[in-house]
Amino acid sequence: MTHQKYHYGELTWPEVKEAAAARKVAVIPVATVEDHGPHLPIDTDVRLCVAVCDRAVAFAADRAVLVPPINHGYSPHHMDFPGPITIGAETFIRYGVDVCRSLAQHGFKRILIVNGHGSNTPFVDIIARLTVVETGALAAAVNYWAAPGVREVAESLRESDKVGGMNHACEFETSIYLALRPDLVDMSKAVREISHQPTKNYWTDLVAGDGPLVMMEHWSAISDSGVMGDPTKASAEKGELLLAAAAKGIVELVDEVRARRPAVRRDHH
Ligand SMILES: [Zn+2]
Repeated sequence: MTHQKYHYGELTWPEVKEAAAARKVAVIPVATVEDHGPHLPIDTDVRLCVAVCDRAVAFAADRAVLVPPINHGYSPHHMDFPGPITIGAETFIRYGVDVCRSLAQHGFKRILIVNGHGSNTPFVDIIARLTVVETGALAAAVNYWAAPGVREVAESLRESDKVGGMNHACEFETSIYLALRPDLVDMSKAVREISHQPTKNYWTDLVAGDGPLVMMEHWSAISDSGVMGDPTKASAEKGELLLAAAAKGIVELVDEVRARRPAVRRDHH
């Protein structure tokens, strides 16, 4: 593999022009800063999402660039805990679309938004949709834990509760953080907390998926520690496997988005 620069911010403007002309996919990590229990730093979603994207784009440097992350997202339901920085829904959407619009104006016609925070999900969907209708570029969004291949690996590693053990500051996220920066994780403070009260049509799990009923209560009403899941089952070894699977899945999506036939509109009036 040739060593190409793939960090968008490290490119010169002529290199940006070349990257767009080479039809590289612009990969944008989007996450948030919020509480992740007593054992994990508040930058968990950002660090994990950026790590997955960096590994993926490094591997696909001939066909993608890594845009600096959108660090702040939608976390108003977390504000009872110290730490979160939350952006209003409309502001967040318009900010995301403006990032995509700028990239589209520079010639990037394929954009992959990689989200690392569950509550950003509806917003990155809308950002991708608005980018399509407002800019003419094709934007798509994915949660990195839902990238192809990740679920299979995660389920094969799972030792936590089959629904609810992998949610937030959980076996999944804690494992990846341990693989990246074990010095920042205090496993002596990790606690299992499965308190989201699943009911007939409501449950939530990053890997096993959610029930049909979509809702989000204030985090302090559903978790005492800020944890949702079981971080005591986390390990760096699991984290490395999850990281590798997620990066591989993102590469697959980069290629799929890049290969997609340009859509041609027809006005039937
Ligand atoms: Zn998280």
